[in-house]
Amino acid sequence: MNLESVESEIDRIVVSETDLKNRLQELADQVTEDFKGRDLLLIGVLKGAAMAMADMARMINLHLEMDWMAVSSYGAGTKSSGVVRILKDLDKDITGREILIVEDILDTGLTLSWLKSNLESRGAKSVEILTVLRKPTEAKVKVDAKYVGFDIPAEFVVGYGLDYNEKYRNLPFIAVLAKHMYM
Ligand code: 5GP
Repeated sequence: MNLESVESEIDRIVVSETDLKNRLQELADQVTEDFKGRDLLLIGVLKGAAMAMADMARMINLHLEMDWMAVSSYGAGTKSSGVVRILKDLDKDITGREILIVEDILDTGLTLSWLKSNLESRGAKSVEILTVLRKPTEAKVKVDAKYVGFDIPAEFVVGYGLDYNEKYRNLPFIAVLAKHMYM
């Protein structure tokens, strides 16, 4: 969906489609370099990382496998609760696997820190994190994300997989919603 269609609903664009594409390509090149000769498994966190997963997987010049998990950390609100539930688990055993988690956003860090330990406890050989966005000022726990697209201010954003009440995931850019959309 293009900017014209949502112009009255958003406050401003935080990351443009071109900047997203260029930065993800840089990260993909880094991943290609770092995982050369290794057996890479991308794990996408549904639903937010669907776009990033699809784009990253095509930009990485290596054989790889893709799997998906769905976790809930938010409930219906716009604040992290710290309580993580698995809504959909991986299809395959990950013992000995080299994993790159692909996530849309690192906010408080609660979700990714929980997910990383969860995957490590299942016997993964290594677990790295790629996140498209990070809100550095919101961190409640320290999470080492090896690949970070953009650091953004602590505002609620939508687009490129990120939703507000399940909408806006299909915007090709990242934007701050207009205030009147919340109230
Ligand atoms: P954390 O556990 O790091 O606080 O939260 C991570 C999850 O919260 C993300 O995967 C995402 O689903 C949601 N989230 C955090 N910040 C935002 C935001 O600005 N916009 C949207 N749409 N979701 C967010």
